[in-house]
Amino acid sequence: MGMLQDFTCPACGLNGHVSGGEDAGMLAMTTTIYCKNCDTLQDAIVEKCHVAVPARRIKPRCEKSRHHPVKLWNQNELCPRCGQSPLALDERGIVTMWD
Ligand SMILES: [Zn+2]
Ligand SMILES: [Zn+2]
Repeated sequence: MGMLQDFTCPACGLNGHVSGGEDAGMLAMTTTIYCKNCDTLQDAIVEKCHVAVPARRIKPRCEKSRHHPVKLWNQNELCPRCGQSPLALDERGIVTMWD
């Protein structure tokens, strides 16, 4: 079961509705990335799970283009855009369960 939450940077205002790190669903594993080109937080697929095929690790990439520079980010790290502050979790934000 994967869980998405709202994160906001109090310093620069970057925000995203992401899992905030590695997350696993029934069919895929994701990790949170920051795309410098799109200036967005995203959850990128790093592993697809198939029953018959051994899981293969996929390089996380921007959903728009594989050529965009991306940076791995998890919620224990500083803001991937400004590096000034950790992102705040919005407690009243919508939590999305995916899967
Ligand atoms: Zn920031
Ligand atoms: Zn991008």
